[in-house]
This record gives sequence, C-alpha cells and structure tokens, in this order.
Amino acid sequence: LLYNMSMISFVIPVYNEEKGFKKFYTEMLLPELKKLKYGYELILVNDGSKDKSLQIIQELAEKDKHIKVLSFSRNFGKEVALTAGIREAEGAAVFTMDADGQQPPKLIPEFIKKWENGAELVIGVRGKYEKHGFIAKLGSKWFYRIMGWMGVKDMVPGSTDFRLIDRCVADEYNKLTEHGRITRGLMDWMGFRKEYIDYVYGNRLAGKPSYNFKKLFQLAIDSFISLSTTPLMIFAWMGGLITFAALVLGIFVLIEEFMMGDPIGLKWTGTTCVCIFITFLIGLVMVSQSVTAMYVSSIHAEAQNRPLYIIDRKNSRNLKDGKK
Ligand code: UDP
Ligand code: MG
Repeated sequence: LLYNMSMISFVIPVYNEEKGFKKFYTEMLLPELKKLKYGYELILVNDGSKDKSLQIIQELAEKDKHIKVLSFSRNFGKEVALTAGIREAEGAAVFTMDADGQQPPKLIPEFIKKWENGAELVIGVRGKYEKHGFIAKLGSKWFYRIMGWMGVKDMVPGSTDFRLIDRCVADEYNKLTEHGRITRGLMDWMGFRKEYIDYVYGNRLAGKPSYNFKKLFQLAIDSFISLSTTPLMIFAWMGGLITFAALVLGIFVLIEEFMMGDPIGLKWTGTTCVCIFITFLIGLVMVSQSVTAMYVSSIHAEAQNRPLYIIDRKNSRNLKDGKK
C-alpha cells in the first residue's frame, strides 16, 4: 500500500470554529508538530461549517503544505468527520483531536511514546483530574453503567476521541460500514493493545460547544443500539416471565376454584380470572414481539456488515493473502 511509515497523520474535525481555530493551530498545535521526529500531515475536516472556518483553513493550507483540507457538503457530525479523516490518512499512525483546544496538544509526545513502545490505541481519558457539573457527571456515569449492563465492557469511562491509533487499527476501522457510528466505541470494540493517558479537558479557546443535549442523547442511543442487543433480551425475558407467572397462577385458580371448589377460601372473582388471562396474553405478545425483534436485530447486524473478527496482522504470519 501507499502508506508512509515515517509519517503521522493528524485528523481534526472542524465545525464552526472560526473564532479559535487559527489560534489553536499556531499557538498550541504547530509548536508540537515542529518538535516531532516524524513527518506529518494535518487533515482538517470541515464538517459543513456555517461560519468562516473553511476560509480560515484554506488560508492556512495555502501557507502550510502539511495541511490537507477535506470539506463536507454539509454538516454530517463529528463521528462521520473523524471517519472521513481517518480514511484519508496515510501515516503510520493517526492522531485525532478536537479543534477547540480542549484536548491539549502538549501531550502529543506522550501518546507517541506509548505508541512507539507497542501500544496500538493510545486513548486520552478525561475525568480523573477534573471536576464536572452534576448533570454531566451523572449522565456519563449512567452511560457507562448502562453500557456495562448491556455487555459492552471494553469501554473505559471517560475515554475520548483524543487518541492515537496505529495504522493496523485505522485499516480495520476503515472497513466498518455502519452509519449510526460512534468512533471511540467501535475502536474500543475492535480490541488491539490499548494504553490510556489521563488528561484534563481544558476550556474552549473560543466559540461554543456544538454538542447539545439532543446530540449527546442521540450519540448515546447510537452506542446502545450499535454495540448491544441486550435491550431486546430484557423484553424477551420479561415477556417469558410474565407468561410463565400468569400460566402458573391460572392453573392454580383452575384447580383450586373450579375443580376443588375453593377449599382455601380465596374467593376468586370472574374479574381476577380475566386479568390473569389478559396478563398471560400480554406476556405472549411480548415474547412474540421479541422474537420478531431478534430477527430484525440479526438483519441489523448483517446490514452493519461488520467483520466477524479482526486480525492482528502484526502478530500473524504467513497468511494466505500475503499481507504480513
Ligand atoms: N464538530 C464537528 N461536527 C459537529 C460538531 C462538532 O466536526 O457537528 C467538531 C468541533 O469542531 C470540535 C469537535 O468536533 O473540533 C468537538 O466538538 P465540541 O467542542 O462541540 O464538543 P465537546 O467539546 O463538547 O465534546
Ligand atoms: Mg469541545
């Protein structure tokens, strides 16, 4: 392939960052890039900005040949912007970070060091050293807790898109085809050797964050649905349980009341019997719904077309497709 093994690709999604981006680039990012002992490219993905961001990026690209500009026709969201940037990257490693200065470029050397020492995913983790608002803290805590319940265990709480991935991870990531995607969730799902770096999420240089509650909620739903089928199973189990309980109760009433003439004296009324019957039917409906949903979920999985497994090419040898 055409990869440049002595180069690192930096991918930065940019959406309405006209106020702070230039400052971020010249004062925070560039000094770090200049210190690198690798070649580098800087892929700026303009995610349909409605302000002057694109113009600013273009002007920077005029002067700096390291910059590649990839501009979307409209706003597709950060996850898609990251995906496009990673597909465009040609380096031996791909570094993703935000454009607003909240993820400190000062830490770039630390990430690279871990990568040089064999890590294939170096993940920036926030939270250890910082104080959050109550709602944000609660929201993210429950997000990871619910993900855990749903069987998605390989997501470390607080892990962010401030991360470096090895070429082998990027290649595998590029094969994923799903639409409702959450980049960090999928990368964590893929496995590989991970290392973590704690950092403090700084303040925005300028402008406002564009992730509002609605977008974050959508992101959470996408993660739940794309990474787990447990919600389905919960309803299947509930339905099964209800059916079973109603059946047992119904049989009990049948024997106790109608066959033995109520020896215990429970005095079942007709209404009770109807209720038990209806509960039984509701249970059946839930079960049959879940069965349908399981078919839908398998269609969903097929439609996602994720690979069945992911090969660690570095540690495999003599594979028949010739790649190391
Ligand atoms: N971003 C993007 N598309 C969007 C929203 C955000 O490319 O639709 C970019 C934005 O320019 C920034 C990064 O994603 O570089 C993180 O966005 P933001 O600062 O709004 O999110 P937060 O810091 O709250 O996670
Ligand atoms: Mg931000």
